Amino acid sequence: MIRNLTLWIFGGLLLAACTLAPTSQHGLAQEGGNPDLALEKIAEDVWIHKSYETIEPWGLILSQGLIVKDDNELIVIDTAWSNADTERLLDLIDEQIFNGPGTLVPTHAHADKMGGMDTVNKRNWVTLAFELTNEAATKRGLTPARDSVPYFDYQRGGPASWEVGRIQFFYPGPGHTRDNIVAYDPKTKVLFGGCLIRPDESNSLGSTADADIAAWADTVRRVAAEFPDAEIIIPSHGAPGGRDLLDHTIALAEAANG
Ligand SMILES: [Zn+2]
Repeated sequence: MIRNLTLWIFGGLLLAACTLAPTSQHGLAQEGGNPDLALEKIAEDVWIHKSYETIEPWGLILSQGLIVKDDNELIVIDTAWSNADTERLLDLIDEQIFNGPGTLVPTHAHADKMGGMDTVNKRNWVTLAFELTNEAATKRGLTPARDSVPYFDYQRGGPASWEVGRIQFFYPGPGHTRDNIVAYDPKTKVLFGGCLIRPDESNSLGSTADADIAAWADTVRRVAAEFPDAEIIIPSHGAPGGRDLLDHTIALAEAANG
């Protein structure tokens, strides 16, 4: 456990350094601006997309989403931060991965996850959000997805999961926000945790403006129980890791809850 933790911290530092000073073809910093949007392949037909925004007082913030090509279907999880970056993201996908509209699913209603929804709607993609996410988006001045998945009350034991292609979406309960969902690809065992899951290099819960800190730890436990085979865990704001990231996030949430 300790050895694994050390490896993840070391790996996390390396990846964080690469992330903040990208030198790849698509990661060169724009002059005087944020680094360019970038794609990173992490498994067969699975990529992370990375975009950057400067948010004071924190400075430059990386946000990650996921791209999965499933035969003749493309599923993208989360937009880039902005409409401009999302234009670039969809162009890169067209050029390098899949030519044609796909389906975009945001994992909660904040700008890092759905700030580019106008762009995706305009390109005639299918855009699909959890009902709570579309409701929150409207309240926060974000453009909602065109379609929504109805809210099933998970506390009453109703279904809280749905599929798009081979990707399984799951609402585990409130944490980072009331509406946050996660996504799982059973083929590659990649679990996209979004902002609900904290990277190993972070020792805080990040932005908690809309969080339910008391519920957060149990919500992550539900994610762990729902996807016992998940091996690669991807947070929004840092390096991918193993299942240690679930334990790390539970520990942070319990500490924050006092
Ligand atoms: Zn958020």
